[in-house]
Amino acid sequence: MTYIVNDACIACKYTDCVEVCPVDCFYEGENMLVIHPDECIDCGVCEPECPAEAIKPDTEPGAEEWVDFNRKYAEKWPVIITKKDPLPNAEERDGEDGKLEKYFSEAPGEGG
Ligand code: SF4
Ligand code: SF4
Repeated sequence: MTYIVNDACIACKYTDCVEVCPVDCFYEGENMLVIHPDECIDCGVCEPECPAEAIKPDTEPGAEEWVDFNRKYAEKWPVIITKKDPLPNAEERDGEDGKLEKYFSEAPGEGG
């Protein structure tokens, strides 16, 4: 089992999640974070920290399909362990449908 980040995170990046992860397994893209499924120890402490409800256990319906996505980008993007400011349109785009198609960027974030 692992936890995953889904498309509710895209264009948000509140990053409250990264500070609580005991194994530093969040990775930063330009406008989304992912969890490395092979590093996550399933502690679950990050899930309630996410204001966008983007973090789910992979046992939840619909979450399994995000595992490969999280692994793929965790291997490309830099690790992030400190909270930073959310993206400028985070509140406005919170809860919006179709974020993957509309906004997702494969570009890495800065990490940090
Ligand atoms: S708190 Fe949630 S929405 Fe914000 S960066 Fe973390 S996973 Fe993404
Ligand atoms: S479940 Fe625990 S180990 Fe996994 S990403 Fe969240 S805080 Fe990190």
